[in-house]
Amino acid sequence: MSTAKIYLFANWKMYLDATESERMAKQLAAYSKRLPTAVETVIFPSSLAFQGVAKAAKGSRLGVGAQNVYWVEKGGYTGEISAAMYKRAGARYALVGHSERRHLFHESNHETAQKVEAVVEAGMLPVVCVGETASERAAGQTEEVVEAQLRAAYSTVVWPLKKNPIIAYEPVWAISHGTGKDQAGKYCEPAEAEKMHHFIIKIVHDLLPAAPEPVVLYGGSVRPDTVTDYLSEPNVGGVLVGAASTVLSSWKTIIADALK
Ligand code: PEP
Repeated sequence: MSTAKIYLFANWKMYLDATESERMAKQLAAYSKRLPTAVETVIFPSSLAFQGVAKAAKGSRLGVGAQNVYWVEKGGYTGEISAAMYKRAGARYALVGHSERRHLFHESNHETAQKVEAVVEAGMLPVVCVGETASERAAGQTEEVVEAQLRAAYSTVVWPLKKNPIIAYEPVWAISHGTGKDQAGKYCEPAEAEKMHHFIIKIVHDLLPAAPEPVVLYGGSVRPDTVTDYLSEPNVGGVLVGAASTVLSSWKTIIADALK
């Protein structure tokens, strides 16, 4: 791991409704009080569940983040929620450029830049998600694609000096929404993730030279039985977990294993 702190982020996507989210958040808030300060656990509930989850997490060490934001502060933007509104509701982080946003909802690199800027301006930290598709990987374009995503995401932001940039490397083919595996039926090997994390840190240093050390989380079918394999790589600063974070027992096992 690259930093003393371990970042364990749970992306609940659209898996849990508001009642289920609040129930699990209450249990995780209580659990977070027993965790060492060296671990940062953050959940990203749906927008519908956000306020109830933020209320459940209040006063605990459980952080709450937004899955997506809009960059304009307020106005006629049906269906959107601004970064500033999330900040006022208690969010400390926001995912930006998640592959499901990019590929299912056609979010462009330019839009991710606007979101990164809005999230920072609102006083939160963007978790910039990057990663290549299976066909880009097969064509040997992984580094090129990830570098372009990073360069675009940080192209306009004025970075707050004391905040570590947080990036999630999530190979699209490794996310469990699809098969979670490559064409040969293999999960993303920790060594392959490590190589990309090293590359991402180098690029982000170049893009934000005055910022503190970037932290790169790995995401893509992380499970209780694989989390320590990823975290034992030197440039893996934590994990962003989807499906396996939505079941209380599996998420608590991931946290406990990460602390071993
Ligand atoms: C994600 O989409 O952020 C993710 C990592 O999902 P999963 O863990 O389900 O592959």
